[in-house]
Amino acid sequence: MVTTSSRISPLLRSLATSSLLVAGALASASAQAAITFDFTYSASATDAFNDATYGSARRTALETAGTLYSNMFASHFSDTGTVTIAVTGTNNSSGALASAGSYYYSDGSTGFKLEDAVRNQLQGTGSYSAPQGLLTYHFGYNWELDPNATPSNSEFDFYAVAFHELTHAVGFTSTLKSNGLGLFNDNRWGTFAQFVTDQAGTKVIDPNTFTLNTAVWNAASVGGTGTGLFFDGANAVAANGGNLVPLYSPTTWESGSSSSHVDELAPFNGMMMSYSTGTGLGVRDFSEVEVGMLQDLGYTAAVPEPETYAMLMAGLGVVGFMRRRRKD
Ligand SMILES: [Zn+2]
Repeated sequence: MVTTSSRISPLLRSLATSSLLVAGALASASAQAAITFDFTYSASATDAFNDATYGSARRTALETAGTLYSNMFASHFSDTGTVTIAVTGTNNSSGALASAGSYYYSDGSTGFKLEDAVRNQLQGTGSYSAPQGLLTYHFGYNWELDPNATPSNSEFDFYAVAFHELTHAVGFTSTLKSNGLGLFNDNRWGTFAQFVTDQAGTKVIDPNTFTLNTAVWNAASVGGTGTGLFFDGANAVAANGGNLVPLYSPTTWESGSSSSHVDELAPFNGMMMSYSTGTGLGVRDFSEVEVGMLQDLGYTAAVPEPETYAMLMAGLGVVGFMRRRRKD
């Protein structure tokens, strides 16, 4: 099954401390957990999750974030599974807020066959030794750790950032390096990369020969906002009104950010997978475009349960009744 020839660090992504601020609502809890996150912590006494004063609250917040993410995920997808994420924390307050990713495995095949351990495990197409992913938080920033409190304009939303990072871990990562090659610096990429095009819809990697279209890549990878790289998965395009989905493509390549986020123009800059966030309440639910992208990455859309329909109909009945009364 899984032949492991090499194991490398995931493409890490992060949230920078700038721009945007969009409110999102917590998805309602689902009956069954889609993903069980087994967070394992560093043994280092200096790790921020082991801090004598704050470590316990930080761990509690992360465990809660895992459960809330699982509930949100289950409201969109039916995939289930348990994944182990190795967690570390620092006291840094510069650069990224946090970062996360999956481990990738390769059996040596060229093409889009890098196996992301977290995604494959959740989709039932592989089983990998723990941990399957990594997550790092930087606690030099001011975080709101209470899931029920609204982060102030001086606090970052610990939960929204967890949602963003865990989405990278479940597969929202391009696996493209600045030179357009894959994580092993050759013609091996993950699933995401097969959907990456320029604004005209030309694939950056030939789907038959698995060679990089260098001219397309050189122009689009640093093509700028709205004129760089795009995602052409069928479900994502359908969710975006039939249009390619723009990916973050700043004019200078940003390792870990470029191509692994949606772009910085509306409405994409208000989505969970925008590359940056401001303080205050962040985004805690997928947009339809992000749901489509994750479907393109192999996740199965959840069908609403019959009870949900019944409740909706009951709700509509109440509305109808009240309107009728008002008319009287
Ligand atoms: Zn990110």
